[in-house]
Amino acid sequence: MALTRTLRPGASPLSSAKTLFANMPDPADVAAALAPAFSAQLVRWQKSHGRHSLPWQNTRDPYRVWLSEIMLQQTQVATVLDYYTRFLQHFPTVADLAAAKSDEVLGLWSGLGYYSRARNLHRCAQDVLQLHGGQFPQTAELLQTLPGIGPSTAAAIASFCFSERVAILDGNVKRVLTRLTAFSGDLASSAQERTLLGMATELLPRRKLLEDMPRYTQGIMDLGATICTSRQPSCLLCPVQDLCLGLASGAPERFPVKTRKLKRSALSLSLLWAERADGAVWLERRPATGIWGGLYCFPVFANEDELLAALPATLQGLLQAVPPFVHVLTHKDLRLSPMRLALSVRQAKALQLPGDGAWFGRADWSVLGLPAPIRKLLA
Ligand code: SF4
Repeated sequence: MALTRTLRPGASPLSSAKTLFANMPDPADVAAALAPAFSAQLVRWQKSHGRHSLPWQNTRDPYRVWLSEIMLQQTQVATVLDYYTRFLQHFPTVADLAAAKSDEVLGLWSGLGYYSRARNLHRCAQDVLQLHGGQFPQTAELLQTLPGIGPSTAAAIASFCFSERVAILDGNVKRVLTRLTAFSGDLASSAQERTLLGMATELLPRRKLLEDMPRYTQGIMDLGATICTSRQPSCLLCPVQDLCLGLASGAPERFPVKTRKLKRSALSLSLLWAERADGAVWLERRPATGIWGGLYCFPVFANEDELLAALPATLQGLLQAVPPFVHVLTHKDLRLSPMRLALSVRQAKALQLPGDGAWFGRADWSVLGLPAPIRKLLA
């Protein structure tokens, strides 16, 4: 059913959306009715009002698009800008990244957080070289077989670079689409999430895909990031306000509906900040999985007693407590209590710790992958 069929002569666009809202509760019908107008208006708006000057735009190079998509996961554009540029300077091609040492990759990623992204990025580059002859696959389905590329990232790469008609569904897009369609299904349920994906696919452009698919994908990202924001969407500026059923309902902010929220947890850790008189610090590599996986870090202990027990008695009296602080991860608050141990070069020889740590001079640790709070302490 086309939206125009619900329009009476002289009716305002918003009143037509209200009529649609009242008469068409089935999500698939809603999406089908909105699809032609929505995609056309979004594409037009992106052309004139969307973002065009981000460094990963205006390219169809899947390496650059992929890199930006991975960096932008859970991370703001402003934060990503510098990292993206630096990464490309070091690794201009996927072959350069594949050939890099993992410490080099983690070092450049240091501070961006979610380090599993960096490890997957490296593995993905190696798979592109070894399994795909150095060329990224051209469909979302195949792209998803690579490490670290989920359905939405695959869809972004495939639509931006190869104009595939496939829907992205990240947090911003879910917000836009649930508001647009007044979709009240609970996204904590995977069945409802699948329904929303079906609607997202229905809403995609059907013509001029070569040009319109990349623009549509960028448009829906731009709309979610700049206008249909989580709190106080700027509906008056919105290019699809006349179609928006959430706006017609009077309370667009109540979408999306998601009942199950991940619980936050807290963890206390003691850190041994051992520093030699020549400026070198003792760092250990973290296990590949878990908090700060694969990064270099001060030795970590469950509490102060364990930390003391790991030190020779002759060094214990030199410890100085640094004020504890909280470092916030997505679903966990880390309460970190560093203990500083300033040692002469001779005293440092007595330091024997259980892990496979070593002394690193400033020139060495500054290019290693370090967790953000450790880098901050050292700086
Ligand atoms: Fe979002 Fe408002 Fe636009 Fe609806 S009208 S899509 S709620 S900004």
